[in-house]
Amino acid sequence: MEQELDNLRTLAKEQLAAVTNSNQLEDFRIRFLGRKGQFSSIMKDLGQVPKEDKPRLGQMANSVKKEIEALYGEKQQALAPVAGGMVGDSDEIDLTLPGRRPQTGKLHPVTQIMNEVCSIFESLGFSVAEGPDVEHDHYNFEALNIPAHHPARDMHDTFYVSDSILLRTHTSPMQARIMEKQQPPLRVIAPGKVYRCDSDITHTPMFHQVEGFLVDRDVSFADLKGVLTIFTQKMFEKDLDLRFRPSFFPFTEPSAEVDIACVICDGAGCRVCKRTGWLEILGAGMIDPEVFKMVGYNPEVYSGFAFGLGIERIAMLKYGIDDIRLYYENDLRFLSQF
Ligand SMILES: [Zn+2]
Repeated sequence: MEQELDNLRTLAKEQLAAVTNSNQLEDFRIRFLGRKGQFSSIMKDLGQVPKEDKPRLGQMANSVKKEIEALYGEKQQALAPVAGGMVGDSDEIDLTLPGRRPQTGKLHPVTQIMNEVCSIFESLGFSVAEGPDVEHDHYNFEALNIPAHHPARDMHDTFYVSDSILLRTHTSPMQARIMEKQQPPLRVIAPGKVYRCDSDITHTPMFHQVEGFLVDRDVSFADLKGVLTIFTQKMFEKDLDLRFRPSFFPFTEPSAEVDIACVICDGAGCRVCKRTGWLEILGAGMIDPEVFKMVGYNPEVYSGFAFGLGIERIAMLKYGIDDIRLYYENDLRFLSQF
């Protein structure tokens, strides 16, 4: 028994010295220290030795086990840095390899532009307000000087939920909603989704608008031009010329379509601006006195301007995209570029 323990100790030392990697070390552990290992089988024999020898042999067996365990521990320590893969064992984990990056999400380009538009107007003192997508006919049309059977309703391709409830066709209902609750002075922008039954290369059934309006005493068209000039210059990071073309909206008078000098060709004429040098970016005008009357403002005292711009349109111009549908196809190869 003593001899067996001695042999085991010698054998263990020899074999441990030959261990060079953690797999071999594990084999060693199983062979010597495992539940069915050599040491365990000697311990079983310990049951058969004469009673008087038991304490001495038991002690000896214990000290041999401790010795082997200690040597095993030392070897484990010594091999630890090697587990980093310096020695080139193919089955080791190579900690020097680059890690797998977690996929990070990004804001949708439309959301990015929306945030940018809002922050530009906030820097000009406008506050941001949001309203319902499902809207009353009253706020979407009536309160904006578009009574039933007004021809302007035809331009809107409205999705009706019921006779008096619809999906808002523009963000302008927020003008009426805010003016009926608050007194001037007002400086508000209202971003959000709008819906029209329309779909082609430049139209989607749902798109995003930002409505803006300002109401105070002595507000003039010059204020409107000033605010829009600052906005377009900040948005496109260029000193762009603006052009106002007379237009018609039922809720503004006078009304204008606003163009900027083409951001692609700087006004020289290109495919995007159809050789005109100008790009239409928004509609605007002085708030119609009829709209003021409906919310109880005195049009003799107050005046104001309003404008509405399409976020997708701005994003298309800013990023040079020619098909609006790309924004909603959820192709990550497209979306991850922004
Ligand atoms: Zn151009």
